[in-house]
Amino acid sequence: MNSQVTNQINQVGHLTIGGVDSIDLAREYGTPLVVYDVNQIRHQIRAFKKVFEEEQVDYAVSYASKAFAAIAMYQVASEEGASTDVVSAGELYTALKAGFPMERVSFHGNNKSKAELEMAVKKHVGKIMIDNFYEIDLLNEVLEKNNSEINVMLRVTPGISAHTHEYDQTGQVDSKFGFDIESGQADLALEKVLANPRMHMLGLHAHIGSQIFELNGFEMAAAKLIEIAVSWRKNHDYTAQVINVGGGFGIKYVAEDHPLKPEEFVKAIIKTIKSEAAKNNFPIPEIDIEPGRSIVGPAGYNLYTVGSRKDVPGLIPYLAVDGGMGDNIRPALYQAKYEAILANDPRKKTIQKVHLAGKYCESGDILADTELPDVKPGDILAMLDTGAYGYSMASNYNRNPRPAVVFAENGQAQVVIKRESLMDLVHLDQSYNV
Ligand SMILES: *Cc1c(COP(=O)(O)O)cnc(C)c1O
Repeated sequence: MNSQVTNQINQVGHLTIGGVDSIDLAREYGTPLVVYDVNQIRHQIRAFKKVFEEEQVDYAVSYASKAFAAIAMYQVASEEGASTDVVSAGELYTALKAGFPMERVSFHGNNKSKAELEMAVKKHVGKIMIDNFYEIDLLNEVLEKNNSEINVMLRVTPGISAHTHEYDQTGQVDSKFGFDIESGQADLALEKVLANPRMHMLGLHAHIGSQIFELNGFEMAAAKLIEIAVSWRKNHDYTAQVINVGGGFGIKYVAEDHPLKPEEFVKAIIKTIKSEAAKNNFPIPEIDIEPGRSIVGPAGYNLYTVGSRKDVPGLIPYLAVDGGMGDNIRPALYQAKYEAILANDPRKKTIQKVHLAGKYCESGDILADTELPDVKPGDILAMLDTGAYGYSMASNYNRNPRPAVVFAENGQAQVVIKRESLMDLVHLDQSYNV
């Protein structure tokens, strides 16, 4: 049995999530269903904060909300004292609707539109994470027009490739994100921002990738950021107050994954920054992190109902469920691996290898290659650790409605995103008058 859920089996032998029987959830709200154990979200935010408190440094734990953005999620993050990253007008709007404190919002993105920058300026977000020269000019235009000022950070590409799947690498030199360092772009960007009285330069940002398991990449990035900050103090008489090392802390998806606890990465980052700062007689800056996956990934479960099955002699059978790439595209998009368990009997012995197939019309719509017990149509399967980049990447492909999202905590469940209806699917359509 999957050891992750040992403590989540109730008296009738069902998987529980946030103290709620998963089969009751499936019955009441239907499948496919996304369920979050809210306590686990809170727990991870607190674990990150604790490390900073223990190390006695100024900090911000900025939840990278692209991992899962919803009003309820911003509410929980806000309640836990987290900051948040947004990357679009839509995420910013959702955070606003949640009453998220705007001063704790950072606006990211490699091609923010003028309208998005305008919204960010008018709503007084805490920081604009400037990504490129075009954005410096665009932001200046918006600030002048609105006679406003704003805090900014510069995103740089530290030239570090963390060992991870290629699509998850964002910190190497050949990247669409941020200012290059070696060629002097970052220095030039600094000069431009310092010369602009409407932009208050707070510091430096780098995000080296996602689902990273090695400490090394983070330590190198942290050291590199201090190195740049030191050179900026020397050459530009500018002392960075904030160093943001991004997110990307890897989580366990399958038995073969052995990540450190997310907060262990942060410990190492703080140690590196402290020692590199001390070596250079540089004041210890505020240290910000931007975890997304590690906060919501392990807290999420996708519940599916088992349907058809295809057996071909000598081959691994295909077992189909009522969801798939429309609610979790990660397996199809970057061969992400997941484990699935039989929610109505997690202790039942696994006896077969299956291709767990979705219902979408693509051969690549396989959610997992996994081992399962003997299952029959109507059984409920739970995919584990689906909380990050699952629902947030959901689509209406094949005109399937997106699932509902439920928050479960202390034995109580609440729908926080309603299931789409068939009517929702056509509500933007207009008939063509010929
Ligand atoms: C996506 C992203 C994150 C979060 O990454 P995770 O792997 O989910 O922790 C943090 N910072 C930036 C800039 C990002 O683009």
